[in-house]
Amino acid sequence: MVYDYRTFFFANIVSVTVFTVCLCLLAWRNRSVAGMRWFAGGMVVGLVKLVLQGLEGKVTPYLSDMVANELYLISFVMQLMGLRWFVERKPVRRVWPFIAIGLSLVAYAAMFAGKIRYSGNVINIPNIVVCGVSAWILLKHGRGPFAAVARVAATILGLDAIVMTYRAALTNMLYMRPWLTVNAQTDPRWLYSLAAMAFLATCTVMCVLWFLVTELSKELAEQARTDPLTGALNRRAMEEAALRETTRSIRYGHLPCMIMLDVDHFKRLNDTRGHAAGDAVLQALVRHIKPMMRVNDVLARTGGEEFTILLPNTTASAGVAAAERVRQTVEAIEVPFEDEPIRFTISAGVAQLDPAQGGWEGMMRRADAAMYEAKEGGRNSVRPIAKPHEMSFAREAATIIL
Ligand code: GH3
Ligand code: MG
Ligand code: MG
Repeated sequence: MVYDYRTFFFANIVSVTVFTVCLCLLAWRNRSVAGMRWFAGGMVVGLVKLVLQGLEGKVTPYLSDMVANELYLISFVMQLMGLRWFVERKPVRRVWPFIAIGLSLVAYAAMFAGKIRYSGNVINIPNIVVCGVSAWILLKHGRGPFAAVARVAATILGLDAIVMTYRAALTNMLYMRPWLTVNAQTDPRWLYSLAAMAFLATCTVMCVLWFLVTELSKELAEQARTDPLTGALNRRAMEEAALRETTRSIRYGHLPCMIMLDVDHFKRLNDTRGHAAGDAVLQALVRHIKPMMRVNDVLARTGGEEFTILLPNTTASAGVAAAERVRQTVEAIEVPFEDEPIRFTISAGVAQLDPAQGGWEGMMRRADAAMYEAKEGGRNSVRPIAKPHEMSFAREAATIIL
């Protein structure tokens, strides 16, 4: 076996270049996925590091060793930021990790310039820590559709940390001249561990592609559940939520309520102020109602100007009170439109789930019937559950009017 370190190193640069170009293109094509930008940026930095390292002997050690090692750490941090974005989405709140990384970069440069022995550790140890912390973040926050890929990526990063530790130990014991790492290239352990690092880096790239596919399919699934005009859920999502909530509530005995609301005289508004005015009203309605809801409440646009709110674990009277709050809020909304702001009202019907009366479909029917009663009663009002005979009457009346 010939330990051809240089050929392997060259092949590694070629494959990393291919990965970097692919990831940059994907990041460019999926600009909304910020995690891809971070990761692709990290790959670019990592590639520059490899090229500098490959130029060892041809350029000053400040470039081929010091800057290369610093870029390695920066590249890992950027890749971590990318992976973290997929599972956390929040901006990083703590600054001290970045201060610590900055300090180790400065300390390493100073120690390197001062030719201080074992200075490589100042950059190797943070690298291992970054790998370990990334693995921990992925395990802690990788939930839902990202759970599987986060676990796999964490395992790869954990293995990365182990191989890096092995290489750091090897360097410390055998190959550390006062400030440079040298003469390791004929050692098979050095070559094989480098091959392991290259393999793990390839696996990490595959995980990023997996993250991206998961992200895109999640976005598609969300689009299929969302009304594009208002951003509220659509009827299909409401039906799913209602079915889920019904099953849960029957198991735990906490019955949900449903509010069905419809904008009054919406056709008239469309006819007099135009379709754009109608759209602005629907958007304003959702914008104002959403902040009033609890986390588990579900708001959906279930018809043209008709919305449904599902309130888990809510008594009928609390449901009516919530609907009344919504009605009052809507009454006070002024939608800025052209020269004259638009004011509008809603009518709402409220029903509580009754397993004896047709499950959630029965609840929807009763809330709907109650809403028609509110319309009948003069609009801009809230009606609780209609009694069965009133329900059929309300339906008939509504059919005649329409
Ligand atoms: P009521 O007070 O009885 O509810 O009367 P209404 O005029 O609100 O009810 P109707 O069902 O007669 O009219 C609903 C109108 O909503 C008809 C339709 O053109 C309009 N519409 C449905 N979807 C949209 C939309 O996305 N944007 C706009 N601007 N109008 C819509
Ligand atoms: Mg209407
Ligand atoms: Mg309607």
